[in-house]
Amino acid sequence: MKIVTVVGARPQFIKAAILSQSLRGVDGIKEVLVHTGQHFDYNMSDIFFDELGMEKPAYHLGIGGGLHGQNTGRMIEAIETVLIEEKPDWVLVYGDTDSTLAAALVAAKLLIPLVHVEAGLRSFNRAMPEEINRILTDHCATLLLAPSQQSMDNLAREGFGADQAILVGDVMYDAALHYSLAGRRRSNPVVEAGDYVLCTIHRKENVDHPRRLKDIVAGIAESGRSIILPLHPRTRARFAEFGIAMPSNIQLIDPVGYLDMIALESGAALILTDSGGVQKEAFFHRVPCVTLRDETEWVELVSAGVNRLVGTDPQLITQAISEPFDPSLFDVALYGGGEAVPRIVDILLQRTPPC
Ligand code: UDP
Repeated sequence: MKIVTVVGARPQFIKAAILSQSLRGVDGIKEVLVHTGQHFDYNMSDIFFDELGMEKPAYHLGIGGGLHGQNTGRMIEAIETVLIEEKPDWVLVYGDTDSTLAAALVAAKLLIPLVHVEAGLRSFNRAMPEEINRILTDHCATLLLAPSQQSMDNLAREGFGADQAILVGDVMYDAALHYSLAGRRRSNPVVEAGDYVLCTIHRKENVDHPRRLKDIVAGIAESGRSIILPLHPRTRARFAEFGIAMPSNIQLIDPVGYLDMIALESGAALILTDSGGVQKEAFFHRVPCVTLRDETEWVELVSAGVNRLVGTDPQLITQAISEPFDPSLFDVALYGGGEAVPRIVDILLQRTPPC
């Protein structure tokens, strides 16, 4: 069985790292990795290949830095060439980026079965580019592998039955479990310095709007807590463009690799984020999370009481940071038992017709 996996953005390298290891260990499976180039800085891309034991991509398309349409169009053209050449049994994609959508469209047009890992997530906010990408990708997919019961319910509402939509759990939980020991052993000066709040901000709907970005910074400043902020390149550019000065309680650092991120997350008193993945990782490491968005796809975290959804109102941010969380609320299994990867491998083996 030949699988072409298409990745392009930071969270996809982490998900691919854990699944690719297993795929490559199975006799009869050959995986060909394609990197679109959507993320290209060392700290946003190569560091994950270097640190997580990933093989270098067989194809690097070098497409990044442009507008959505420009990137997606160029990716479609380049991925089509790769798929015609490789003739895989499956195309495998993760999540909701422009790279995901481009690969999904090409696979659907070439009639190559598509497997979507992290299917069924919905924010119900169509202003998010990711929401459009994930809906379209799901509707191109042959197999929709869902991380949570909520995502299964979303797929059922859109007409997907048990032949297509399967609850496998979250590959990010598998990754968190697998890499945690190595991550927690990292010596990290920030972690050793003691009590801090870890913050990540990169969503377009926050950082492209000066008012929202200023409000987030104001709320964080008002909290008076010591904040560590690994800065996404897009956010760095917007801070400069909008002339937003950093309050003294925010320490900006460059984006870190996944192992350092685990150290930072698990050592934090609290996590403030607008990231999808980081909301879940906060839960995996039993760290309370305050989410700087108006809605989330990971609604079960909010229902469980381990995540507070506050948007960008400075007062709500400050209040949510200061109110304690009940540690017993983390004693729930929301994303499976860390066995998503072996389940995905089994499903692909079962569903691939013999040659
Ligand atoms: N991450 C990382 N280094 C950082 C910030 C995030 O390794 O400096 C990891 C994080 O642990 C998570 C993933 O990147 O696994 C989340 O990616 P991101 O927030 O960019 O995207 P999203 O999950 O919102 O799609």
